[in-house]
Amino acid sequence: MSLSPLLCSLKQLLFPTTCPICGKVLQEVDDFVCLHCSIAAPFTQLWRTRNNIMEARFDGVVPIERAAALLWFSSGSAWRAVIHDFKYNSHWYYAENLGRWLASVFAEGDFFEGIDMIIPVPLHWSRRFTRGYNQSEHIAAGISHVTSIPYNFKAIRRNRNNPPQAKRKFYQRWDNISTLFSITHPEKLVGRHILLVDDVFTSGATLITLARTIVKACNGDVKISIATFAASQHLRSE
Ligand SMILES: [Zn+2]
Repeated sequence: MSLSPLLCSLKQLLFPTTCPICGKVLQEVDDFVCLHCSIAAPFTQLWRTRNNIMEARFDGVVPIERAAALLWFSSGSAWRAVIHDFKYNSHWYYAENLGRWLASVFAEGDFFEGIDMIIPVPLHWSRRFTRGYNQSEHIAAGISHVTSIPYNFKAIRRNRNNPPQAKRKFYQRWDNISTLFSITHPEKLVGRHILLVDDVFTSGATLITLARTIVKACNGDVKISIATFAASQHLRSE
């Protein structure tokens, strides 16, 4: 047997050819999900709107330029299973595809205008070690691939696993959480417009903490935008 059929079967084994949402076999015209599921996805449209409900989470806490998620995220949705798989079940390659998809949709507007660096929310080294990867790095790599904006995976270190408590007024406990992240190379961030990338936006506490840490390390001379693959449906009702 020549090498290429072997590689092909390996690829088939590693990369499923069925749509992770509806389970149908993917056709050549399909991307990572089937055409039907990509059209019917619960898009937030937040990237089209300034001062949207996701950006409002940062109001009065830390200045940001833009914030948007691609899809709404709700319990019971098939998309939730996809996110779970790329987070915990080693399906990291989903994340890069989803990052490319996010970027191609956001790029239809002016969302990426002025952004010159992409930084994924880091995991603590122990979690990254046990999981083997950081899903947000793969989303960031996918966005970088489409937009040609470079990413930086080393400028920020996470010092602990525990995120700030959701549902609490975390910004009032800044002393407790200000050491969650360390900026290892602030000189690389000063004067830049950074896109912070995460998988899911729920309370926003982790991203707010990270954004505040960056602004502080740069003495305010930095711009920050936020992109996540999904945002909790709760944002719409709060
Ligand atoms: Zn499908």
